[in-house]
Amino acid sequence: MEAKQMITLALSKGRIFEETLPLLRAAGIEVLEDPEKSRKLILTTNQPDVRVLVVRATDVPTYVQYGGADLGITGKDTLIEHAADWGGSTSAAGLYQPLDLNIAKCRISVAVRADFDYASAVKQGSRLKVATKYVAIAREFFATKGVHVDLIKLYGSMELAPLVGLSDAIVDLVSTGNTLKANHLVEVEHIMDISSQLVVNQAALKLKQASIRRIIDAFASAVGK
Ligand code: AMP
Repeated sequence: MEAKQMITLALSKGRIFEETLPLLRAAGIEVLEDPEKSRKLILTTNQPDVRVLVVRATDVPTYVQYGGADLGITGKDTLIEHAADWGGSTSAAGLYQPLDLNIAKCRISVAVRADFDYASAVKQGSRLKVATKYVAIAREFFATKGVHVDLIKLYGSMELAPLVGLSDAIVDLVSTGNTLKANHLVEVEHIMDISSQLVVNQAALKLKQASIRRIIDAFASAVGK
């Protein structure tokens, strides 16, 4: 029998956290504190050997890769960008990605100002200025299309860039499309569908196999897989 070891789960703040709670509950894990109200960064759960860290989505892969957390939940977008620093694969970053949780679903798209003729710009082979937080995804997408781009890295509010002439286009997450519409932007390319993924530290999986497998299996049945 494996002794009960502490299992640490890193969750993304915000939208993903909200959508993760029902899944955790279905997996038998009840978070006992509300991160919106408490300033605590380590949250206890109804299971004495399971604790939850609340971090920025982009930090989740880093916590899991270096063993600050055994498991993590974050978007496919974030994992692709993180893996790009490790030769493009999550496994090279020491991450095992066993399960698509099918939550926080959205898409990553190219959008431009409604008055920008994207099709002509692409056809004429113009060099496009593209602002994005998702540099690896954008680079790969435009390289595959054979479109030359200058990528401008931003950390938020990408929608602003075409409005003030910083870029011709943006690559960003789109869910309802309301943010684009409110800023007179239109979606011109759908790059890929995005949802939240479960990632596991490969070394932790070996050391704490029974406890981690139990959690992976509980998530799998909670999402109907
Ligand atoms: P929407 O107006 O519903 O299309 O949402 C677009 C805004 O929300 C953009 O600023 C996106 O970066 C952000 N967003 C949409 N879906 C997600 C998601 N699943 N995770 C994180 N941010 C998202």
